[in-house]
Amino acid sequence: MVACGSDAVRIIAVGPPSGAPGCFPARLLAAASVGRSVSGREVGAGTGTSRLVGGAPGPAGGALGAARIVAVDLVRVELHLAVGHRTSYGEERHRPVVLARVLVEGGESAGGAEGWGECAALADPVYDEEYAAGAWAVLRDHLGPRLLGAEVDADGDLMHTLSGVGQVLGAVRGHRMAKACLEMAVADAVLRWSGRSLAFALGVEATHVAAGAAVGLPDDLARTRDEVAGAVAAGFARVRVKIAPGCDVGPVRALRSCFPDLAIQVDANGAYGHDGARALDGLDDLGLACIEQPLDPADLLGHAELARRWRTPVCLDESVRDAADVDMVAALGAASMICLKPARLGGIGPAVDAHRRARLARIGLWCGGMLQTARGRAVDAAVSGLPGFVLAGDLGMSSPAFVEPDPFGSVRLRSGRVEVYQGAGVGPLPDADRLRAVTAEEVSVAR
Ligand code: MG
Repeated sequence: MVACGSDAVRIIAVGPPSGAPGCFPARLLAAASVGRSVSGREVGAGTGTSRLVGGAPGPAGGALGAARIVAVDLVRVELHLAVGHRTSYGEERHRPVVLARVLVEGGESAGGAEGWGECAALADPVYDEEYAAGAWAVLRDHLGPRLLGAEVDADGDLMHTLSGVGQVLGAVRGHRMAKACLEMAVADAVLRWSGRSLAFALGVEATHVAAGAAVGLPDDLARTRDEVAGAVAAGFARVRVKIAPGCDVGPVRALRSCFPDLAIQVDANGAYGHDGARALDGLDDLGLACIEQPLDPADLLGHAELARRWRTPVCLDESVRDAADVDMVAALGAASMICLKPARLGGIGPAVDAHRRARLARIGLWCGGMLQTARGRAVDAAVSGLPGFVLAGDLGMSSPAFVEPDPFGSVRLRSGRVEVYQGAGVGPLPDADRLRAVTAEEVSVAR
């Protein structure tokens, strides 16, 4: 269950702050409320307004109309994983997280709402080109200024609205994780304002979805065995084990012997060369759910060869950089499964597009995690409620995820499933005290 302080729709009146509206640092919130950034430059009321498209009115009655994004603020929080996550590219322990908060105001109701997004970029550019410090810079200097002042149809069709966000941000090449952060924040704001949940907007009826767990490299077999046993005891329906050259077939075979009925998948994060992947042939008789990303992300032809050679499904993660890549994967027969990560594909809109293309191509899906806070996981849980997800998603953790309290609450498992957030927005607002405790840096974006 996603813990949250309140399911109530939180709508903030835009005007001089009274008391503690929202939970954003008072300095930034006050600046946003009077339509100016902390640097003193006007926000949202100047020239260059971008028009975002909308669609049919939502369940709130369609009375909100067009609104404007009057503030884009960034917050960097510093978290640390309670248990280091070991992969073929190293160990993740430090987890800086870039958050974006947008403030939307105006429309016929003369109100407004805040929305929060999370950037999935890791501390270092090892899993992907993007990394937290780089995301911070591009959000502050390029993406945030483009979004500031844009108009948004607050109660329109969410996919149309997010498509508009994508168009506004599309002038900047790449940086999909950073774009997903802003897209999530806009989605949160318009959904919160119109009283809709993300699940409702996506047409997801499931209230709970199956959750899997991820464990690191099995370089210490006893420790990994304990981790997997803990995940099973906690109720996780599936376990993903990282592998790397020299730490693959032997330990995975040993784990399989300990957990003969467990759904196990392995993830190499592209660590193998074309010839080196021969070593993974020994995984093919272990009844694994899939072998994920054995080769370099660019090597789709190599993956197609492995997909023909192995009975075990080949799954692609890093190779699928955007929705259109799904068509390429299908055309080449490079995989029969795709790891869908909204935070890495550019956001909810691109993820829904990728989902549609994968369904048409009869490619199975599952939702991978990015060591996110409960905010990012709430989005993943809602998206995982769409049809076609054949494996449980990385939606929870088998142990406390972070040393510090998660500003967005925690993800709790019940009978192997996590709750799909049903409140307005994509998830609960952050807790002010917990956010303040882990905030390292904050800035208001200026045009
Ligand atoms: Mg992966």
